[in-house]
Amino acid sequence: MSHLAEQLAKRRTFAIISHPDAGKTTLTEKLLLFGGAIQMAGTVKGRKAARHATSDWMELEKQRGISVTSSVMQFPYGESVVNLLDTPGHEDFSEDTYRTLTAVDSALMVIDAAKGVEDRTIKLMDVCRLRDTPILTFVNKLDREGRDAIEILDEIEQVLQIQCAPVTWPIGMGKRFRGVYDLRHDRTHLFSATHGGRIQTGEVIEGIDNPRMDELLEDQAAELRDEMDLVQGASHPLDLDAYRAGLQTPVFFGSAINNFGVKELLDAFVDYAPPPRARATHERVVEPGEDKFTGFVFKIQANMDPAHRDRVAFLRVCSGSYKQGMKMRHVRIGKTVQVANAITFQADERKRVDEAWPGDIIGLHNHGTIQIGDTFTEGEHLKYEGVPYFAPELFRRVVLKDPLKTKALQKGVVQLCEEGATQVFRPLKNNDIILGAVGILQFDVAAYRLKDEYGVEAVVEPVSVHTARWVRCDDAKMLARFKEKAYENLALDGDEQLVYLAPTRVNLQLTEERWPEVRFLATREL
Ligand code: GDP
Repeated sequence: MSHLAEQLAKRRTFAIISHPDAGKTTLTEKLLLFGGAIQMAGTVKGRKAARHATSDWMELEKQRGISVTSSVMQFPYGESVVNLLDTPGHEDFSEDTYRTLTAVDSALMVIDAAKGVEDRTIKLMDVCRLRDTPILTFVNKLDREGRDAIEILDEIEQVLQIQCAPVTWPIGMGKRFRGVYDLRHDRTHLFSATHGGRIQTGEVIEGIDNPRMDELLEDQAAELRDEMDLVQGASHPLDLDAYRAGLQTPVFFGSAINNFGVKELLDAFVDYAPPPRARATHERVVEPGEDKFTGFVFKIQANMDPAHRDRVAFLRVCSGSYKQGMKMRHVRIGKTVQVANAITFQADERKRVDEAWPGDIIGLHNHGTIQIGDTFTEGEHLKYEGVPYFAPELFRRVVLKDPLKTKALQKGVVQLCEEGATQVFRPLKNNDIILGAVGILQFDVAAYRLKDEYGVEAVVEPVSVHTARWVRCDDAKMLARFKEKAYENLALDGDEQLVYLAPTRVNLQLTEERWPEVRFLATREL
């Protein structure tokens, strides 16, 4: 096997999807502990405290700051190299999450045993389905009273429309929680609460019929056997092909906070989860094992290092390898750049990366030339297909307190928009700056950061824009006529693309009817 093929086969790149509070942060921390990426429980905390204070700017800043430092985590596990891409917890940052999901090869869904399938999980599942992303499921918080395991599986199958194949099974729940039975290895792992630590404790009993089971679990041993007969009759057997096609999810049970059931999950994850797969570009399908380097940017983040005020573009390597100092072609702008100082992300430190392989994420220093969705290659003209920009649903006008700061404002707004969370629109008819976002929190973040990072005191105020549509028309004459007639409602986005800002839904409808040759797009391909 070539070195590239070897490295590629080891890579597992994934993200965790869940509804807030299901236990994503806790589980992340335990996974990092097992991977040896952190030494102590408690390191990944902090994000939590920030999440609830949603209206407080300082807290917001903190949340952003903290989730930034750990937004990509790489750690070795057994023979594998695992890349875990973090996604923001708050739903106002969901676009960021959707884009991050384009950069993974699989996902891990965390479900709270008491709450079952929740809203956010349903949405994220829909996003995963766009690319048939394989999903493992972890049912968490078994140490608390929750729903019956069979009921949870039913709900996942019904609501999320995916087959469930239990790989472990809980013995009791809440006060009666005694451990998990591992169907794969026919062994039982008895519950023992260990808050932290790398080592999993608790006795392991081989074989479901082992008399030791009856000795220790008493009645619950017989209950488990009965339940297993039922489950194995009624549920789907594990089928890795179906899992990798996104049709079936292997299910694990445990308690993240007690570090219980997490090792089984991680062991199975590195076994089952797919290594990097072929990916589509507009031109052709690229195999990860191709010699030549290719990759795309799925996220841009400012202030990775508050001392330096830098912006980093997160690039997922899709084929070939990155070597320090290599030359890459930045396809959209047609320039070749030499990259000497890409960085990788370990749990709590950044360091320079010497090489990176398909599935890995590298950070490129960005001075304003890189945009989300950009493809880098060794020369070939390729463009990776990505998640588009969505038309924002909320709009605000930015008003300066000090009119002399217009330049700084423009610079600040453009840079914030590069990160993709807010979008900027500049009407043709005046010098207004209108921000669009999917979540209301984005405006607070924008105003706060304009002040903090660009020294611009600005407020955001309501503006009569209901929605935005990117305008396309193949007939240049027609387009010119449209521009003249609709001038009042037209604007340019951050990329100088023409956008129609509709004051009302009815207005949009009428305009669409009046101009059948013009297309009004709700999304813009990156
Ligand atoms: P996130 O919002 O999905 O990141 O959730 P967190 O990991 O922050 O967890 C939400 C809450 O559930 C926290 O108070 C955790 O301590 C708690 N929690 C997480 N895992 C477990 C578990 O296995 N059992 C119990 N009882 N609580 C848990």
